[in-house]
Amino acid sequence: MKAQKNQDGLAGMPTRQLLSRRRALAARLGGAEQVLTGTLTEQTRRCGKAGCRCAGGEPHGPYAFFVPKTAARGRLRYVPAPLAGVVRRYLSNGEEIERLVAEISAINAELLARRELS
Ligand SMILES: [Zn+2]
Repeated sequence: MKAQKNQDGLAGMPTRQLLSRRRALAARLGGAEQVLTGTLTEQTRRCGKAGCRCAGGEPHGPYAFFVPKTAARGRLRYVPAPLAGVVRRYLSNGEEIERLVAEISAINAELLARRELS
């Protein structure tokens, strides 16, 4: 909602303000190494051992999995409990990076409309 408002406001900004805003946004991309784009999900599992409680309808878990944004089915990555906090931080960074890139792209689209993209 806020981003939409910002984008609507771009058309009313002077070009030099767009350029300085773009520079400030791009500067915040500096920490882009620690990034995951996707989601966390939880799933239960059946181990397949005969006589295990899971065979009787009481599955193991739930366990956390990372689901890459661009992944095909079956590309879940198990997230060991000690790494859950790290994964959440990376996901949060990923969302921030995506917001920044989206806003930079919106600025560049506005610059394009003004024939001032270079
Ligand atoms: Zn089992």
